[in-house]
Amino acid sequence: MAKCSSGFPSSSSLPASTPDNLKPFQTLNGIQQLAESRQFKGWLLDQFGVLHDGRKPYPGAISTLEKLANYGAKMVIISNSSRRASTTLEKLKSLGFDPSLFVGAITSGELTHQNLQRSDDAWFAALGKSCIHMTWKDRGAICLEGLGLQVVENVEEAEFILAHGTEALGLSSGGAAPMKLEDLETVLKECAAKSIPMIVANPDFVTVEARDLRVMPGTLAAKYEKLGGEVKWMGKPDKIIYIAAAQMAGIDASHCVAVGDSLHHDIKGANAAGISSAFVTGGIHATELGLHTFGEVADDSSVHALALRYDAYPSYVLPSFNW
Ligand SMILES: [Mg+2]
Repeated sequence: MAKCSSGFPSSSSLPASTPDNLKPFQTLNGIQQLAESRQFKGWLLDQFGVLHDGRKPYPGAISTLEKLANYGAKMVIISNSSRRASTTLEKLKSLGFDPSLFVGAITSGELTHQNLQRSDDAWFAALGKSCIHMTWKDRGAICLEGLGLQVVENVEEAEFILAHGTEALGLSSGGAAPMKLEDLETVLKECAAKSIPMIVANPDFVTVEARDLRVMPGTLAAKYEKLGGEVKWMGKPDKIIYIAAAQMAGIDASHCVAVGDSLHHDIKGANAAGISSAFVTGGIHATELGLHTFGEVADDSSVHALALRYDAYPSYVLPSFNW
């Protein structure tokens, strides 16, 4: 695997005398300089926390995409959303983005759906068809049509857990019953006792929605691993989704840059795939970095400390996705 081209040494190789003002990443105000250099032909863009907050685009995001497209950038949305790729593009359109600017979108939900549908590798082929389905309620349940799965409510009948959401338990009748997080965790304990695997179709732990944090399925998956359960992580930070996105862009990974606001997911995943990365500080880590207003510039030493803590090393750091 190619190493991240950031040139940033791993924490273990940093000399003990490393000065505090060392800049292991390049700090940018916006992406203009990178776009004009034409160094990267493929742009793999995270959406929540980068392009929008779930309700509205961030200031400058729409015009920045348009300018980037004018430089011939092949843009792919790479998202841990548990929904299908088409839903992501529709959502972007409803928020005012022009879907034609993107080559396409790859979501965790899409990867999960395709793998369940194809069942062409040994792990998926051995899964079975009966599942406990953890899904959304207020945000809209995830449709399993076309997968030939049987949703069961009794753990005794389940062969695996499919985690799309954290608000409800899927019913065999096709609906979903609202369920509190702690009650879903009780179901996980029963599943762990039965040693059935979990597929997590959105590995995020939390997401930022209009500056509120919301618990995502990755939290359930982490809990399940703690209980001794086996988890198949179908999205960031697994490199599989980055490689798929670079392939969709039709650009070699060495000429791609991934833009994201989560060190653990976006930047770590790009590191794993050997893809350069740009860390947007105004998203999910804003509070940790002491940022209170949009566009506020993070302190380099705070970013450095956070990168070390997450063991995730961006090539570039910028306050928001703007020109
Ligand atoms: Mg994000």
